[in-house]
Amino acid sequence: MTDDSNLKIAVVGAGPGGYAAAFLAADLGMKVTLIDQELNPGGVCLYRGCIPSKALLHVAKLIDEAHQAKNWGVEYSDPKIDVARLRSWKQGVVQKLTGGLGQLSKQRKIEYIQGRAAFENSSTLRVSRANGGEESLTYDRIVIATGSRPAVIPSLKLDTPRMMNSTSALDVADVPKTLLVIGGGYIGLELGTVYAALGTRVSVVEMLPGLLPGADRDLVLPLHKRTEKIFDSILLNTTVKSVKEESGGIRVTFDGPEVKEREKVFEKVLVSVGRKPNSEIPGLEKTQVKVGQRGFIQVNHQLQTDDSAIYAIGDVVGEPMLAHKASHEGRTAVEAIAGHKVAFEPNAIPAVVFTDPEIAWCGLTETQAQKEGREIKVARFPWAASGRAMTLDRTEGVTKLIFDPESERVLGVGITGVGAGEMISEGVLAIEMAATATDVALSIHPHPTLSETIMESAEVFFGTSTHVYRPKR
Ligand SMILES: Cc1cc2nc3c(=O)[nH]c(=O)nc-3n(C[C@H](O)[C@H](O)[C@H](O)COP(=O)(O)OP(=O)(O)OC[C@H]3O[C@@H](n4cnc5c(N)ncnc54)[C@H](O)[C@@H]3O)c2cc1C
Repeated sequence: MTDDSNLKIAVVGAGPGGYAAAFLAADLGMKVTLIDQELNPGGVCLYRGCIPSKALLHVAKLIDEAHQAKNWGVEYSDPKIDVARLRSWKQGVVQKLTGGLGQLSKQRKIEYIQGRAAFENSSTLRVSRANGGEESLTYDRIVIATGSRPAVIPSLKLDTPRMMNSTSALDVADVPKTLLVIGGGYIGLELGTVYAALGTRVSVVEMLPGLLPGADRDLVLPLHKRTEKIFDSILLNTTVKSVKEESGGIRVTFDGPEVKEREKVFEKVLVSVGRKPNSEIPGLEKTQVKVGQRGFIQVNHQLQTDDSAIYAIGDVVGEPMLAHKASHEGRTAVEAIAGHKVAFEPNAIPAVVFTDPEIAWCGLTETQAQKEGREIKVARFPWAASGRAMTLDRTEGVTKLIFDPESERVLGVGITGVGAGEMISEGVLAIEMAATATDVALSIHPHPTLSETIMESAEVFFGTSTHVYRPKR
């Protein structure tokens, strides 16, 4: 450890980036202040993102499986939804987790200030406390971890509870009869899945030709097929021209080559068209920090901004806007501040879409390889050949490995199917450890599990998968 570990640092924003940074800084012996307007650490992820959405998706999955159970000889009557109880259960999960983070923060002797921070200069923050009072506090280093917020399209802005963003949708004020989700990205699809399970007739509109733009199409296909069954409609290549409130709901006008019905009324509309970085921090202009074109704060591989005393991490510095990326950046920034030789240069950041089925990928994607004109070999294992998938009655999945044709190294992994989000970590490890097709094929996987599909994909690469017959040519 170097002398830099005695520094006094402030972390602005206590999301998964900010609190991970603050906790490590305290563990390394620094004197740490963590500032956020919420009562406890957690940020968007815990209060209005990852955690509440997954709590609701768990309920959605249960409802869905209860319906499906009649195929297996078990019949339940239709569920009765107690929205107030559902809400309080979800809130309970959030409170337990954020309260736990508050405890961990106290145990580490971190000064947690509930309030908002503004910059006076590169080392001084003006902090307004939630319970009143303002003070100027000076630090050796400051870490900006202010995250992001839902993007707003001005023409789709209506001041009515019928127009929701992800935050208000997670509040589940009620179960509307109809809901239009604007945006076919992961947040819209996850929340659409929740409402559909609760009994809402959900439609999704996406201006691009496919759901989840950015993900490989073969991974999205099984999800698309299933969502066609649970959603009322999926409108692709379609934009929303206007929204207008009337007595029965929101009248929406659509535009696009495939549009059949130009206007339709929905009880509620969820706008989920991406997120914007919170880089408009008051007083930031009094520092040397530079903000790039899309609003992301510019940083180097040590997460240091153009102002040597200020670091920035998480959603506010760029894509992918994911909690685990924010946490790892937070830890890297603090190590860099402590004088350790580090850089944030991951080979694989996993992305998980927690729909049903789940989609998860990491490392190189086929889409990216194509764009870069890079030679790859792809090995796919269909879940129809997986015993475990069969026992779950969920054979629509697929596991694929992307290899470098010469070295046979694993460059990317993509999985669609139940539990894909849990399985993708093996892919991350394989990529980070430079595993080859042989390494994966020779690693004994437990039977019967879905994880075997990763091992068998590597066998497919050699044309010798036990459960996939490939005729000799
Ligand atoms: C509905 C939804 C579902 C999601 N699901 C997932 C998921 O399953 N997995 C995943 O990896 N990611 C998910 N995300 C994304 C994830 O929440 C973010 O990537 C993550 O929270 C980013 O962490 P962060 O530390 O950068 O900032 P944030 O979590 O955004 O936290 C920033 C904090 O800074 C505070 N702040 C801002 N400005 C100031 C200021 N001036 N002074 C003091 N405090 C300030 C904010 O109030 C906030 O509390 C989801 C997001 C949403 C909206």
